[in-house]
Amino acid sequence: MSKKVYIFMFIDALGWEIVNKYQFMEKTFPYRYPAKMQFGYSCTAIPTILTGQPPTKHQHLSFYYYDPNNSPFHFFKYLKFLPSSIFDSWRFRHLMSRLIKKMKGYTGYFELYAMPFERLPYFDYIEKKDLFIPGGLSPVPNIADELEKREIPYHISNWRLSEQQNIDAMKTALEKGEINFSFLYTAAMDGLLHQVTKDGKEIPEKLDWYEKQIAEILTAAEKNYDECKLFVMSDHGMTTLTEAVDVKKEVEKTNFQFGKDYAAVYDSTMARLWFFNDFARKEINQKLQQIPHSHVLDHEEKVKYNIDFPDNKFGETILLMDPGYQIAPSDMGLEPLPGMHGFAPEHEDSFASFLSMEDLETPPKWVGNYFDVMVSKMEALKN
Ligand SMILES: [Zn+2]
Repeated sequence: MSKKVYIFMFIDALGWEIVNKYQFMEKTFPYRYPAKMQFGYSCTAIPTILTGQPPTKHQHLSFYYYDPNNSPFHFFKYLKFLPSSIFDSWRFRHLMSRLIKKMKGYTGYFELYAMPFERLPYFDYIEKKDLFIPGGLSPVPNIADELEKREIPYHISNWRLSEQQNIDAMKTALEKGEINFSFLYTAAMDGLLHQVTKDGKEIPEKLDWYEKQIAEILTAAEKNYDECKLFVMSDHGMTTLTEAVDVKKEVEKTNFQFGKDYAAVYDSTMARLWFFNDFARKEINQKLQQIPHSHVLDHEEKVKYNIDFPDNKFGETILLMDPGYQIAPSDMGLEPLPGMHGFAPEHEDSFASFLSMEDLETPPKWVGNYFDVMVSKMEALKN
């Protein structure tokens, strides 16, 4: 039997637009497919890719959701005496994030971002577990569960490491020749695109770097395997900033009390709100209708994006900004970024990409379909 290895390389934010603009590795990957992103951010795209299921199934959409009874942040009430100069510093927040993570035994990606400390006790945080390991999205099976079930020797990157470390670990695994399946995680492209946008001069340099890394991975694989197939995939593209909109200030003009009348999370491209009485529901919803460069998602859109949670877990009302218009200040950051994702999945800047060395029987149309391609290759290993 010939010795095979399938490598799925994830490059965060390698959108369809960039792939086309720079004709990224067209010779190596002649089969190229745009894939619709999952509505939301990486914290929903990754679970979608790892399980093939939408947010309503794996229950991950954004980091924060209203749940004061189970909030792990109650002790922040006792830190009120601290001046805001300490509270709001990035260093202090990062330190607190690390402390909470350790205290609570969280293994997932955990960061407080810019959520005001007095609001934290109203919310719970979704990514408590490492999503990439077996049982990481339990009860929904992820690719690690699928690999274990089939007893396929595999290597899945440690997302906590740098992309260079992950690429090196991957090459070492290939040199040993003991694995038949790999999921390589790289995330630096996302950070770069947020800072320099899709038109940044740094982008073609970064693409050249990936090209070189992929060539080295393929060389390492060819030495130890009869057959190696590498696939490149991403979760979304990047949209350049047009303007910032202070949605929070507008909502707060209504003078309803946060925590008593309503709760809200301001992500970078959407505001998510919960209401505790009809006065607040009516008036705040009316106010949201007037916010420029945005619209409130109707039920059909929630169904289309698979975010129609029956319990409104991630918000009863979701205000989505138009592409390019960021909410700032938001609970994710006080300033807008040069580039952002998380706008309408139909927008041209939002599309993700899937690149293949071979023609695919069922090309992915949505990022969740990558899971089906990965499982089909696991099945192919058995033949
Ligand atoms: Zn990002």
